[in-house]
Amino acid sequence: MVLIADPSPALSASSPPDSSKPSLAGLNRDGLRIALARIGVPEKQLRMRVNQLWSWFYVRGVTSFDAMSDVSKEMRATLTQHYSLARPEIVTEQVSVDGTRKWLLRLSKQPNDARAPEIETVYIPEPGRGTLCISSQVGCTLTCSFCHTGTQRLVRNLSAQEIVGQILLARDRIGDWVVPKAGNDKGAAGPDDGQLLPEGERKITNIVLMGMGEPLYNFDNVREAMEVAADGEGLSVSKRRITLSTSGVVPEIARWGEQAGTMLAISLHATRDELRDELVPINRKYPIAELMEACRGYPGLSNARRITFEYVMLKGINDSLADARSLVRLVAGVPAKINLIPFNPWPGAPYECSDWEQIERFAEIVNKAGYASPVRTPRGRDIHAGCGQLKSASVKLRASERGKAPVESPADGSGG
Ligand code: SAH
Ligand code: SF4
Repeated sequence: MVLIADPSPALSASSPPDSSKPSLAGLNRDGLRIALARIGVPEKQLRMRVNQLWSWFYVRGVTSFDAMSDVSKEMRATLTQHYSLARPEIVTEQVSVDGTRKWLLRLSKQPNDARAPEIETVYIPEPGRGTLCISSQVGCTLTCSFCHTGTQRLVRNLSAQEIVGQILLARDRIGDWVVPKAGNDKGAAGPDDGQLLPEGERKITNIVLMGMGEPLYNFDNVREAMEVAADGEGLSVSKRRITLSTSGVVPEIARWGEQAGTMLAISLHATRDELRDELVPINRKYPIAELMEACRGYPGLSNARRITFEYVMLKGINDSLADARSLVRLVAGVPAKINLIPFNPWPGAPYECSDWEQIERFAEIVNKAGYASPVRTPRGRDIHAGCGQLKSASVKLRASERGKAPVESPADGSGG
């Protein structure tokens, strides 16, 4: 594991982000319009200016207004005087031996925050694709019994800007922005001189809302952020490549499909209400039958656009072959993928990961029933970057201040 605490040259190449001024990075078009009107940009110029900034921010990823060479000097100076392009601040960046990266990020303190909250974002490179796992909340109000995030006390929703900020920061750090064409470095280039990176060349091809938090409890901000992410003139991550994962907030599922239209993943984890009540307590409010009905009605569902059912493998709890058969029966009739996730242990977790042979036997039943059921390959184990292990360091620090520092379990081959 490599631990980089200081921003590397990629971040400091342009003038360092100034967090004392409000940042424009991560705003949607309405937000930019308001910000520009506030500094006196005339109404009839607003649309043109917003489009101009949009390209620089979301195609080229500039971190300084000075880099926007087709914007007048006066305009650049006014922007610099009032605003910044700061991203969330990096507290630590960890790089796994397998290339997975995890960032602990500090957000700006909002009026109601006792202190600046911290979140985590993970980048997982795979052959031919790269997935960015982003957080939607600081902590989570739900208390799934196998999830580390659910034990975090501090909770607030992320703003849309903070959600988009994670994408910008990840692109900065892994070098995933359009590079200007050679010869255009003398300040005469426009943002469109570098075209969008062709999909095949992009590092972040997919986004999953599987970091910290329950995204459907922060519906409006997550939707706004995903509109920015999917915008074809900007970040251009198509909605087919964005997946929202929910623990099962039933009343919001159809609304999400209608209004946002991304792919959907359901954290199922059990096929009986009695067990799911324990593992995923929101089940007490919205039991399995209601959840499955919402899935069957998900707008746009088809064989080409399947729902992913996530199923965490917990030894002796939900991993019997009878459970596998019952899982297959439960999802029958829903265009589905089944994603078996080896349980990621965390200090004090009341579960163990199923034995590998058991996971294979379980997967075989699911496969035979006609479902592709990739077992999620353990990634970033050495940096604890797996699903459900995300929990900000400040909480660990507080625990250690109380003299009860949880000890991170060593990578032991049992989780993901
Ligand atoms: N709150 C949302 C999204 C974030 S969690 C949800 O629950 O769906 C992303 C996925 O990681 C969920 O499927 C969650 O159940 C799973 N997960 C949580 N803790 C885990 C752990 N310790 N090991 C493996 N998967 C875990
Ligand atoms: Fe929250 Fe998802 Fe963790 Fe449950 S699994 S506590 S919903 S983050």
